[in-house]
Amino acid sequence: MIPAHYINGRWVAGEADECITVYDPALGQPFAEFIGASPAQVDQAIVAARQALAGWRTLASTQRAAYLRGFAEQLEQRREALIALQMQNNGKPRHEAVVDIDDAVATFNYYADLAQGLDERQDRDVPLSAKGFNARTRLEPVGVVGLIVPWNFPLITSAWKLAPALAAGCTVVLKPSEITPLIEQAYGHIAEALGLPAGVLNIVGGKAETGAALSNHPGIDKLSFTGSNNIGSQVMRSSAAHCRPVTLELGGKSAILVFDDCDLDQAVEWIVAGICWNAGQMCSATSRLLVQDGIADELIVRLKRAFEKLRVGNPLTGEVDMGPLTSQAQWAKVTEYFDIAHVEGLQCVSGGDVQRDPGWFVNPTLYVDVPLTSRLWHEEIFGPVLCTHRFGSQAEALALANDSRFGLVATVISSDLERAERVANALEVGHVWINSIQAVFVETSWGGTKGSGIGRELGPWGLSAYQSVKHVTRCLG
Ligand code: NAD
Repeated sequence: MIPAHYINGRWVAGEADECITVYDPALGQPFAEFIGASPAQVDQAIVAARQALAGWRTLASTQRAAYLRGFAEQLEQRREALIALQMQNNGKPRHEAVVDIDDAVATFNYYADLAQGLDERQDRDVPLSAKGFNARTRLEPVGVVGLIVPWNFPLITSAWKLAPALAAGCTVVLKPSEITPLIEQAYGHIAEALGLPAGVLNIVGGKAETGAALSNHPGIDKLSFTGSNNIGSQVMRSSAAHCRPVTLELGGKSAILVFDDCDLDQAVEWIVAGICWNAGQMCSATSRLLVQDGIADELIVRLKRAFEKLRVGNPLTGEVDMGPLTSQAQWAKVTEYFDIAHVEGLQCVSGGDVQRDPGWFVNPTLYVDVPLTSRLWHEEIFGPVLCTHRFGSQAEALALANDSRFGLVATVISSDLERAERVANALEVGHVWINSIQAVFVETSWGGTKGSGIGRELGPWGLSAYQSVKHVTRCLG
């Protein structure tokens, strides 16, 4: 078995009971296999991270910044291999795999810049209203952090956690998804190539048992989790048991609001990207289309045409717009929603069926005039399945958009920019795009309201998530 886990600066073979099989979803065929990390190995990783903490947190922040720049450079050097692996293991079209690596590189460079000035900004005086005292502020690393990530954007989701955590001076234990476990191994190889001190970054692959061993462990100081609401809630419970902080990036059922003054062709482009990028396996998928009455019929005709023009296929054998779903389980989940839609009597104007064998393909799917009581309107499907509903007024659109237990993102499409800005302000979500694809910039925040999670990643907020604020107050008496 290949040594798949990076613990205390060494690659080791797994000792868990379960074998992890890695698949090419376009073929439905396995191409790698290894044993997951056992709970005892998770413990070793946490002990190593604890031992490495004192050295890493006191290293000059300029030196931590240099390591982070090294990560960005090394990612660039591995660009082609990482693009190929994401195409093979995630089923991402090439142009999407390129975006992911660009994003990861940008993230490490951004947090290198933030780390660069950290020591200089340390110990700033706090102006006090009282006389006879002074106070200074310190931003200290929270300590050893556990990072648990899903499979849909493995390179990015891990970068969004690793880079700020390392910049802040935390040491980490990363648990990648068992569906795409090879991609994050690159971060271990990079740590090795850069001579990152042993124990600063540990990677333990595995299934639920490995994740639970990490999230239940008493030896971590914080957990940052991205994944489903179901597991997020378990992770939150384990954090509650230890009274320690948790960041949660969870699911979504986001709305895209299209007003009748928009450019229809442009709207179609943004709607398709919002639901078909990564085959709809996006927490931020805008899977609820709210369309104003006056343009609804024409928009649906154009959307149907656009969906049917999308090239769905194996990204490794041809140029495609959409690849397969990444796992058989995800394929089964999406096809189950096709059955539910059938039982509910939803009106399907495109897709609603699987593509072909072999591989886990489904067709981009459009259900129109979906009742608000439908499960497909409320539940996160995590596939290329778009539901539409009509609205008359702006107030109605907003009420429908905000009527969700989730609150991750939204998109507003209108040529009336003042209206679009007003609507953006009233949406109960963490990020809104106006007349745009879902462009995510490292300088802006990522995270949701309501059931979509707790906390923010990216930007300075992403760094703060790994910092603890300390004040030192002295009596001048
Ligand atoms: P998941 O919750 O099944 O798994 C996420 C991670 O948790 C995996 O590494 C998994 O092995 C691990 N895990 C499983 N059981 C565990 C346990 N008991 N204790 C600790 N860890 C455990 O999610 P998924 O299917 O991998 O990903 C899809 C979900 O992730 C969707 O709901 C999606 O919306 C969400 N997501 C959210 C964001 C965001 O930024 N908000 C980004 C990407 C994905």
